[in-house]
Amino acid sequence: MSNRDLKILIELQNNFNHIQELKVLVEKQNKRIDHVKKQISIKEEELKEFQDNQKDIISSLNESENLLSSKERTLKQAKSHSLEVTSEKQAVALKKEIELLSSETETLEDKILEDLDKSEEIQRNLNQTKEFLTNSQNSLNEITKEASAEIATQNKLIEDCFLTKSQHLEVLTIQAKDLILNTENIFKEKDYFCSINSTRSCTRCGSNVDSETRETAEKQEQITSCPSCSRLFVFR
Ligand SMILES: [Zn+2]
Repeated sequence: MSNRDLKILIELQNNFNHIQELKVLVEKQNKRIDHVKKQISIKEEELKEFQDNQKDIISSLNESENLLSSKERTLKQAKSHSLEVTSEKQAVALKKEIELLSSETETLEDKILEDLDKSEEIQRNLNQTKEFLTNSQNSLNEITKEASAEIATQNKLIEDCFLTKSQHLEVLTIQAKDLILNTENIFKEKDYFCSINSTRSCTRCGSNVDSETRETAEKQEQITSCPSCSRLFVFR
């Protein structure tokens, strides 16, 4: 291994950090889109609820109106019968029936008015929610367009970083390249760099670094890994 390997390792770490920063920017844009989508889905739920309520009220209104017209018919009949009564007993019974029917129609009329008020209120909410959804859909389209362009830019930069990385890997000595690729394989997409701090332990895993490893690492003649976590030591 050569001293150049260590310089390239530093470059690889810079490159890795740059990729992480770009990924954060991509994530931020995705979150913007998700946020609006979430708002929309909450409002869509609300809209569905209003629509269901409206349906219930309308069916209750229809029911009340049918019942009301049937009661009104009966009331009309009872009133016309009252002109033809022949006995006191009949007159009393009919009067009672008329009173009951009148009170029932009144109650139904009140209920209908109440339901009409409710239905109006729901319709107002429905309209507001629909308007909100139309606006949100527009802003979602705008944000998506903006964010997608931003994401494409960041992804292009990430691609460039990966290209730079493969160029770096090509100039490494074979041993260094193997070590780096193996280490990278262990950590997958995660950071595989560490250093030694003033208390002689690994800055990442916190384990004490034995003096032999420390001396080898600090000589900076070859790439050395932490005996405990296997990350590669980088000194700046
Ligand atoms: Zn470590």
